[in-house]
Parts: sequence; C-alpha cells; structure tokens
Amino acid sequence: MEIETQTPKLQEYRRMLVELIFSEGNHVCAVCVANENCELQNIAIEVGMDHSRFAYRFPERGMDLSHKQFGIDHNRCILCTRCVRVCDEIEGAHVWDVGSRGADCFIVSGLNQPWGEVDTCTSCGKCVDACPTGAIFRKGATVAEMKRDRSKLEFLVNARENKQWTR
Ligand code: SF4
Ligand code: SF4
Repeated sequence: MEIETQTPKLQEYRRMLVELIFSEGNHVCAVCVANENCELQNIAIEVGMDHSRFAYRFPERGMDLSHKQFGIDHNRCILCTRCVRVCDEIEGAHVWDVGSRGADCFIVSGLNQPWGEVDTCTSCGKCVDACPTGAIFRKGATVAEMKRDRSKLEFLVNARENKQWTR
C-alpha cells in the first residue's frame, strides 16, 4: 500500500483547516504576547496561509487575570486541551477542563470560577509552557520572555513514563 501525505489536495485541506481556526477565534498576531513565538502562527506560515478566505466570527470572549502570576485570554485559545492534560496528567492538579458544547466550548478553571480562586493550582507554570498560542501567558512577560522551555515538559513526561521516581 502506498500512502501519500504531501499531495497538493492534502496541503490545500491543511491550509483550509488553519484558516478556519483563525476565523473561529480572535487571533490578532500583531498585538499578541506570543507574536513570533506561536505554534499556530508557525503552522500558518508552513501551510502558506496569508489570509483567511472565511468570514471571521469575532466571538465575544473574555480574559481571566485573577491569578497572581498568569493570565488566560480565551480569544486566543484553540481548544487543543494541552493545558487540561498537562495540569491533570503531569502536575496532578486538574485545574482545567472543557466547558459547554460545540461552538460554545471554552476552557474553564476549577468549577468555572476565576483561576485565582482555584486552590488546587500550584502555580507550577506547566500550562503556560504547554499552551501553543498566547492564550495562557505569564503576566508582564515580553514576547522574548515568552519563549517556552518545552524540554522541561519532555523531561517530566519521559521520567513519568519510565517510572524514574518510583522504581
Ligand atoms: S500553573 Fe500548574 S497547577 Fe496551575 S493551572 Fe497551570 S499547570 Fe495547573
Ligand atoms: S493550551 Fe492554550 S490553546 Fe490549548 S486549550 Fe489550553 S488555553 Fe487553549
């Protein structure tokens, strides 16, 4: 069997999917803390997207700045659920979850309460490192300071899978 993964048709589908993600949220790269340090932006460049052919939804989404060190801007969230998984599976705090259904889905902290009021949050910063966009960010950080150290997460995942601490 021959499997092709880089045909022009597939590339066109990939570009279309990225355009749909951009038009679904409010991704204004020029004023984002993660500008030039964003996986979504990198993928858009990789698939050759220079604009979206779909109408922007301009959804009304808020921000939560109640945590002392971090903030979440739902406008930039692409619902990848990395924050949910890293906080649950690596940190064991399970602060995040996905609320609602369909196009109304959004990331919730605790029991849909302000992040700063969720007392299981250890302020470890793993969700900040895992977030591919600028949705979860460190307060007061410049774009350069937003550079994430993914090797820290990789180390933790590998150590956990290899039972490094429990042997
Ligand atoms: S800072 Fe750590 S404990 Fe708090 S929400 Fe993020 S991953 Fe979870
Ligand atoms: S990691 Fe970031 S983009 Fe992904 S679901 Fe969480 S807040 Fe949204």
